[in-house]
Amino acid sequence: MCKIFSEINSIKEEINSSKKEGLIIGFVPTMGAIHAGHESLMQKARSECDKVVVSIFVNPVQFGPDEDFDKYPRQSENDIRICERNNVDIVFIPDIKEMYPEGKESLTKITIPDTFQNILCGKTRPGHFNGVATVVLKLFNIISPDKAYFGQKDAQQLIIIKKTVRDLNLPVEIVGCPTIRDKDGLALSSRNVCLSNDERKKAVTIFGMLKKIESDRKSGINLTSQLIDNALPLLHPDVKLEYFEAVDMNTLKRTDVLQKDTLIAVAAKIGNVRLIDNLMILD
Ligand code: AMP
Repeated sequence: MCKIFSEINSIKEEINSSKKEGLIIGFVPTMGAIHAGHESLMQKARSECDKVVVSIFVNPVQFGPDEDFDKYPRQSENDIRICERNNVDIVFIPDIKEMYPEGKESLTKITIPDTFQNILCGKTRPGHFNGVATVVLKLFNIISPDKAYFGQKDAQQLIIIKKTVRDLNLPVEIVGCPTIRDKDGLALSSRNVCLSNDERKKAVTIFGMLKKIESDRKSGINLTSQLIDNALPLLHPDVKLEYFEAVDMNTLKRTDVLQKDTLIAVAAKIGNVRLIDNLMILD
């Protein structure tokens, strides 16, 4: 059985006693609506750590005023069952008042440098990554994990969290985990439940573009503009592209040539649902 905590003081006490025993704490931050992508992070944490902590918190500070904070799927009972199935030790489900007792307006925030947030998702979601880094730092301070697990699906988030940890000398190791996909290739996302059957079929064409890049790359094309131009026609016309870009994973600067550490990232809207996906060149 998982132990469930909603108060910061109580979870801190619990974790302190594990730390005193010298146990390694693994942490998986989530916004809930848990799916097999989240489960893969739990399983990786389970295989590497003594205690696995999962947080479920839909963080208002990372949503813009016109975004889907109110509509974001919430299903905490089911989420807890899935955590139990994955042998998670501790689930942390704070409410907004517990996390932001003085209100989010007067909150002290982390500021991510412009070069890391004025690109890709940051372009259309101003302040989003400041909100993400702030809540993640708060959660790190509450949970004191030795290792924290993040999905490569949210590539810009992973890159920014790694940078924050380096820049601020946080005593935690960040572990990036591969993107888990449905059988048809669609990257798992909590927002997929908001897609109709028809929209889902159209959404799969995002993955189609990434597959095309992979196959063109194998046939020797390495100019990112050419790879992207060849892939674009595969996107269903009802899918509204927000960006489709190649950047260097370490700097998030645009790159003309596909090589090791290139990230090809895409964001698109199907109806009101915004989805992201990417291809990481790791070798
Ligand atoms: P979220 O609940 O969407 O904030 O995601 C929580 C964590 O799960 C983040 O580190 C995500 O990158 C990760 N995640 C979400 N979807 C996937 C996926 N399809 N495969 C692997 N990790 C994922």
